[in-house]
Amino acid sequence: MYFFYNHGMIKIPDLFIRAEHTDLLKKLNEWDIAYHQNDAPVVDDATYDEAKKRILFLETEYPELAVNGFSTHVGAAVSNKFKSYNHTVPMLSISDVFNKDEVAEWFNKLSNKELFIELKVDGLSFSARYEHGVFVRGLTRGSGIAGEDITENLKTITDIPQKLSGVFPDVIEVRGEVYMSRSEFIKLNEISDKKFANPRNAAAGSLRQLNPLVTASRNLSAFGYTYGDLSERTWKTQSEYFNLLESWGFKTTAQWAKKAQSVEDVQQIYEDVILHRDEIPFDIDGLVIKVNSVDIQEEMGARANSPRWEIAYKFPAARAVTTLKDITVQVGRTGVLTPVAELEPINIGGVLVSRATLHNADEIERLNIKIGDKIIVQRAGDVIPQVVGVAETFKNSQIFKFPDKCPVCGGIVVREQGAVARKCINSLSCPAQICGELEHFVSKHAFDIDGLGEKQIELFVSRGWIKEMADIFTLIKNHGDEIRSLEGFGSKSVANLNESIEKSKNVDLHRLIYALGIAEIGEVTAKILAREFLSIENLRTATLEQLLKIDGIGDIMAREILSFFSDVHGIAALDNLLTYINIKNPQKQEIKNNIFTGKKIVLTGTLSKYSRDQAKEILERFGAKVQSSVSVKTDIVIAGDNAGSKLTVAQQLGITILTEQDFNNILQGNEN
Ligand code: ZN
Repeated sequence: MYFFYNHGMIKIPDLFIRAEHTDLLKKLNEWDIAYHQNDAPVVDDATYDEAKKRILFLETEYPELAVNGFSTHVGAAVSNKFKSYNHTVPMLSISDVFNKDEVAEWFNKLSNKELFIELKVDGLSFSARYEHGVFVRGLTRGSGIAGEDITENLKTITDIPQKLSGVFPDVIEVRGEVYMSRSEFIKLNEISDKKFANPRNAAAGSLRQLNPLVTASRNLSAFGYTYGDLSERTWKTQSEYFNLLESWGFKTTAQWAKKAQSVEDVQQIYEDVILHRDEIPFDIDGLVIKVNSVDIQEEMGARANSPRWEIAYKFPAARAVTTLKDITVQVGRTGVLTPVAELEPINIGGVLVSRATLHNADEIERLNIKIGDKIIVQRAGDVIPQVVGVAETFKNSQIFKFPDKCPVCGGIVVREQGAVARKCINSLSCPAQICGELEHFVSKHAFDIDGLGEKQIELFVSRGWIKEMADIFTLIKNHGDEIRSLEGFGSKSVANLNESIEKSKNVDLHRLIYALGIAEIGEVTAKILAREFLSIENLRTATLEQLLKIDGIGDIMAREILSFFSDVHGIAALDNLLTYINIKNPQKQEIKNNIFTGKKIVLTGTLSKYSRDQAKEILERFGAKVQSSVSVKTDIVIAGDNAGSKLTVAQQLGITILTEQDFNNILQGNEN
């Protein structure tokens, strides 16, 4: 049954409405293909949601547009990369709401008002079929009617059990979401050549791989939340189903789930979650609100492509229009010039925004932004606000001219061949670059010096008290009295600063490597380098060949490392620094030869005698390389209790598998 806003009168779209509808449909289809099939979105979520909202409005207002329109298809067509199968029970989408009124409109129609509220995890939906408790087939959502066969890929995900435990129906399709945690996403982007836009794309790109080994190498996670085909239902509510899922071996978002009985409850939960969104270790894009009783759910049934008993309460597309007052240019620690939009302050999704990034000169040109324009600004998660377009331009708006001199030091600005960024070439004397480097040097994952932040560094650099890294360690001795006399500094704060500087002198090698600020070398890579080279001397004399041999070091990284250590000024500054600090080098691994020496080993399951980390350390002492996932290159898998998918993959690949007992025997043999 259709519901028309104009009570029975069917509206006929005019030429303009038709053109708008055709245009929107074409765009949305293109975006869907880019997103679902190529895992490479071309627009941001807010733009997509806006277009979707508009087309759904048009199709409700003018029902004839819905025929072969957007509302009559569920998701993207299935790509031909994978085998496709029909879903036994279609995988419907959930209809979106964006505000409290829309929640109320849905809520008021409910006959039973006990709600179950879950996080809407931003990942890729799957359906996993179990027959007699054994996982037999996994599909993507695909078109909702047919999905892609990703059985082998799902088998590599630990959160998806190969066999259900406990009591389960003869046949059940568990449906849920595969996702990548934010920390895994950051790690992956740091070590892989292909950069993903966000965790969801990384998850989709990792899951929709023809080679399941690639999937296995990416630490994906999964939650179960609903079901498809089913032989018998023993639960009465969604909350009971969550408990059952966990008893079968699935993970759920139960720890964040809430019950509610009014729109006010829902709104309160919604606002709480938005406020604490960053504390959740994975990305979410809203809440899913369900009628808790499954009997009522079945009674209510579904519309053409979405159930009536649940809605997705999406987080606000955090966008607003404001005036661009000016464009300033910031100089970063590598000398890159970044244009920044100075805005008429505006509240976006609860946060007052007065600046937004414009990325680079090309972006300003592409967006055709002029100073004085009304522009659209967007804030997503904890990302820096960005300008997405012009809302309105004016006759007296000013074209922005990108400076050809560094706004901080007046140095020449160049654009390296093939690069988008413009850089100040004065790396040695540009205060902006010096401050940037020093701020990085004292930051939490580097030397972690409390009391030395952006402001203090700028102040000390501007006074000429700090010119390079080493000067930090003589700062109090040489300028303590002057600092004590500065406003905002007392004897106590100087003493504290002195203490944290002294404490930081004992520094782990990987922190030092990270602190140097070598381009492309993040925390994870710094740790790899420390482990491989064991001292700063070894690292600075490393050759290209040596660097490239290391797992996790790519061509670009290797060249950046070489170029850093071949720069005379950089080396002089490093030598100066080394006279003040005491580096804690990683333990030299004394290699006793045994069966593990030189082998690539994966640990899975639980060992009773050692923790995973202890076992890893032992193996590394024997010169083994411990990997996190099984691949064709793996030599040995050591499987403890409850070993999951990694063991299955190893069996399929015919890799040597050792039990904990075997492992212990070998270690004992070694001691004798
Ligand atoms: Zn400069």
